[in-house]
Amino acid sequence: MILPVVAGLPMVRPNIVLIFSDDHARQAISAYGSRVNQTPNIDRLARNGALFERNYTSNPICAPSRATLLTGKYSHVNGHKDNASAFNGAQSNVAKLLQAGGYETAWIGKWHLVSDPTGFNHWEILRGQGEYYDPTILSASGVSKATGYTSEVITEKALSFLKKPHDKPFFMVVGHKAPHRPWVPGPNSLSMFKDTRFPEPKTLRTDYATLASGARTVSMGIEKTLKPQADLYVGKAPVTSIPEYLAKWSETYSREDRDYAESLKSGDLLGANYQRYMRHYLRCVQDVDTSVGQLMDAIKDARLDKNTIIIYASDQGFFLGEKGWFDKRWFYEPSSGTPLVISAPGMKARRVKTLTENVDIAPTLLDFAQCAVDPEMQGISLVPAMQTGKGLRGYAYGHFYENNDGEHKVPKYVSIVGDRYKLIYYYELREWELFDLKTDPDESKNLWDGSPALEPLRKRMVQDLISKMRQVREEVSVINSVRESLR
Ligand code: CA
Repeated sequence: MILPVVAGLPMVRPNIVLIFSDDHARQAISAYGSRVNQTPNIDRLARNGALFERNYTSNPICAPSRATLLTGKYSHVNGHKDNASAFNGAQSNVAKLLQAGGYETAWIGKWHLVSDPTGFNHWEILRGQGEYYDPTILSASGVSKATGYTSEVITEKALSFLKKPHDKPFFMVVGHKAPHRPWVPGPNSLSMFKDTRFPEPKTLRTDYATLASGARTVSMGIEKTLKPQADLYVGKAPVTSIPEYLAKWSETYSREDRDYAESLKSGDLLGANYQRYMRHYLRCVQDVDTSVGQLMDAIKDARLDKNTIIIYASDQGFFLGEKGWFDKRWFYEPSSGTPLVISAPGMKARRVKTLTENVDIAPTLLDFAQCAVDPEMQGISLVPAMQTGKGLRGYAYGHFYENNDGEHKVPKYVSIVGDRYKLIYYYELREWELFDLKTDPDESKNLWDGSPALEPLRKRMVQDLISKMRQVREEVSVINSVRESLR
């Protein structure tokens, strides 16, 4: 069977390379219209592929997003609801199905699921969250220590896998740690953004006036939560065995530490932290973008480019100062909105506007590979949407479970987002939010305000939320909590 649809060239059982970064916001990708940086390599991918403008991660934190990527199921079905638990690797996953269909499978880089990978012929993963320099690597043969900057270490390991002879089509995930907190850039990106003053997002300085109460009590503020040393590396350097890297670091940051101290004199801690945070974060992004380019070039050099699909995605989005925050977890756009670019040989650039979710990636990969799908998978293959751009679903679904006593104190919620409206119910707080994304893309004005004119819309959205929860086989107790709130 051939896949003439997405590509200008027919593909038979294509190789699939999925580059999966951690916490990379759409706002930090130029193909998505970034105001703060350029990502020439991800853009290059988008020029030969589909860029999904409205892709969401249902449970926007690290490990649950990876569990959904693997299983094609929402957290309440695959059982992986938070970062603390160990993933149940005994269940069906996309790699096992690709293996059964004759694929060689590999996962290299950040894994973060506690249990060992299953369904992968080859795996070399970071231990836990992983370190930015000289990372500890786990593999089927044991524990080892790598030397160098982690984004480069991961890229090198992925390049080794690419370059070895393959007698089967392969599926490789390249899991980057970057740009995850604490944002420690590599030696090659330290020269970037030296004199850049980043524009502040409109909502950096906000009073959260109409939002649910959790927005005022959360611990993820750039002003108050970010620590100068631990997060912003003021007067601090990474631990690395490579002296040249440290020398480069010290050359860059001795000046930037002085600038930071100077900028604090104005009394604007929020502004000073924002600039410093952005510089660190975006340098980490640049290292990931470089990796994307190196992988693309290696695929071409190995003459695999006519039969390899390359995908770039992150596990979820990230706040880059919107609402005064860093971090993720919320279902607000900067956090739940997640980059996704799928590039196929010979494909022309296309922007896909239909609602897609990270639960769709697994069935899409199986569709590309012409392998059987697990009938329990809840995602929808994106191949038709790549062909026609037509809508897949009326609403994307969100459910966040982390306990409120966690570090960031983001309240639990369920949510739906449609073409225009987003409804969020914080079921422990018993508070609602409704946003009109067309007139209020920054989600600053909560329409759950009791005004009679909007009552029909509110009622319809609540009914649609309950229908969606039933459709995704949500737990009955959670559906009941929504129903009870209306009594
Ligand atoms: Ca993440």
